[in-house]
Amino acid sequence: MNRSDHLAALESEDFDFCIVGGGATGLGAAVDAAARGHRVALVERADFAKGTSSRSTKLVHGGVRYLKQGNVSLVLDALRERGRLARNAPHLVKDLPFVIPTYHWWEGPFYGIGMKVYDALAGKLGFGPSHHLSKEETLARIPTIEPDGLTGGVIYHDGQFDDARLAIHLAMTASELGAKLANYVRCVSLIKEGGKVRGIEALDLESNRSFRIRARVVINATGVFVDELRRADEPSASEIVAVSQGVHLVLPKDFLPGDSAIMIPKTEDGRVLFAVPWHERVVIGTTDTPLAERSMEPRALPEEIDFLMTHAARYLSRDPKPEDVLSVFAGLRPLVKAGDSGNTASLSRDHTILVGDSGLITITGGKWTTYRKMAEDVIDRAEEVAGLKAVPCRTMELPVHGATTDEITGSHLRPYGSDAAAIQAMGDAIRIHPALDLAAAEVRWHARSEMARTVEDVLARRSRALLLDARASSEAAPTVAAILAEELGKDAAWRSAEEANFNKLAQGYVLGGEWPS
Ligand SMILES: Cc1cc2nc3c(=O)[nH]c(=O)nc-3n(C[C@H](O)[C@H](O)[C@H](O)COP(=O)(O)OP(=O)(O)OC[C@H]3O[C@@H](n4cnc5c(N)ncnc54)[C@H](O)[C@@H]3O)c2cc1C
Repeated sequence: MNRSDHLAALESEDFDFCIVGGGATGLGAAVDAAARGHRVALVERADFAKGTSSRSTKLVHGGVRYLKQGNVSLVLDALRERGRLARNAPHLVKDLPFVIPTYHWWEGPFYGIGMKVYDALAGKLGFGPSHHLSKEETLARIPTIEPDGLTGGVIYHDGQFDDARLAIHLAMTASELGAKLANYVRCVSLIKEGGKVRGIEALDLESNRSFRIRARVVINATGVFVDELRRADEPSASEIVAVSQGVHLVLPKDFLPGDSAIMIPKTEDGRVLFAVPWHERVVIGTTDTPLAERSMEPRALPEEIDFLMTHAARYLSRDPKPEDVLSVFAGLRPLVKAGDSGNTASLSRDHTILVGDSGLITITGGKWTTYRKMAEDVIDRAEEVAGLKAVPCRTMELPVHGATTDEITGSHLRPYGSDAAAIQAMGDAIRIHPALDLAAAEVRWHARSEMARTVEDVLARRSRALLLDARASSEAAPTVAAILAEELGKDAAWRSAEEANFNKLAQGYVLGGEWPS
């Protein structure tokens, strides 16, 4: 994906749909519409997946918690999508066994029955049957689980993925299908003709140049920011999105050796908690904290960190200390408001599509797992609004860029899928930092083929270094800046500004670090 070529096309061509927002929702919609043969533009004001879509728990799941809430149709839809995503992006999704440890006699049968219902809903698209584990079997799978009072466990299967890498590969899929898309382009305002939205005023944040993108229909897929664009369209529009923050801690792999995750269905204050092995680390999360503000770099609250540290200590035999925490990251859930509710844990995780009088389409809610179905629904609606002939959705079996089931030598290259061979062929395989699985060739690939524009794009989303080890990623920043400067033709001043920006950002991911002002 060459950004300049895409920008030139965005400025000069006419489009059927202009999508604002390059997270799971917007990128999914771009793939869907382009696969149907429509002319598609997409702009993202930061980097692809910079918002919520790089900050998830990394699960492709039906959502056991929604089963508990009785939302069977949401679980059923998500389980179907889980199966489709595993088939269409096998390089990014894998089966993960989850163990629910039990500490009371009744928990085994209780969760055992619940997980059988989950298996039955997944049907043929299931990842494997659930079953009971004895205390010994539980300890064999999770040697670091708290043994005091342990009675046994229940094991079930769900999916795991790399969220930001999927976003990048969706962008590449859309581009290969003819969509024109660019990061660091902000939608500043809507263009209206006769009361109808006919495109957007865009600002290229790299060159500071404004231009227009003309389209029959504009789709607002801006996540927790959808109300900003809805109000630009209709100043009296009421807010439809409530924000709930979720925080994760990342620990070294020895806190959870092996390939199984832990799932705690109900902490003593009623929350769901996961400890998940991911890229040779352990991700612990998450929280559900209603927030009034929305920001591109949300910060974990002290009480959220305290909750995660206390509960990690409760369920793991070794208590994590602050110095064990490699990274802390927070994300904001866009939840669709259902009247007044202070409790975001019970707001809808389902998606919502709204069409304004001007024809502006807004899509929000849902989850990563259901991005494809959300895209299908919004493009069906967008065809109607645009007065286009309805074309059947083609993404049900459409492989995502990179899809392959082949063995990939050098396992950390697996998330690149079929691109791994091209990266290996570039040479330059020496790690740029001893604690990070990242080679210079990958950084060059990010710049040449994946539209990486900044050190953060490389270290936070093309690779996941910032989430895996915030301090090490800071130390790697000068090398990444030097390689990117070569690739993008930037000077020494750009390099030092990039290093400084990244270091400031990474501080916010270090437990107890200074937050950038
Ligand atoms: C803590 C947490 C854990 C989660 N875990 C899971 C999980 O394990 N599995 C799962 O399936 N789902 C999970 N989710 C849900 C999932 O991550 C979200 O539903 C999904 O990422 C939302 O994507 P989005 O595209 O709607 O929003 P975003 O990813 O936020 O994308 C919106 C984009 O719009 C851009 N934008 C805003 N304004 C403008 C503008 N004016 N011009 C151009 N661009 C603009 C933003 O920069 C942003 O990148 C989790 C969510 C959270 C918060």
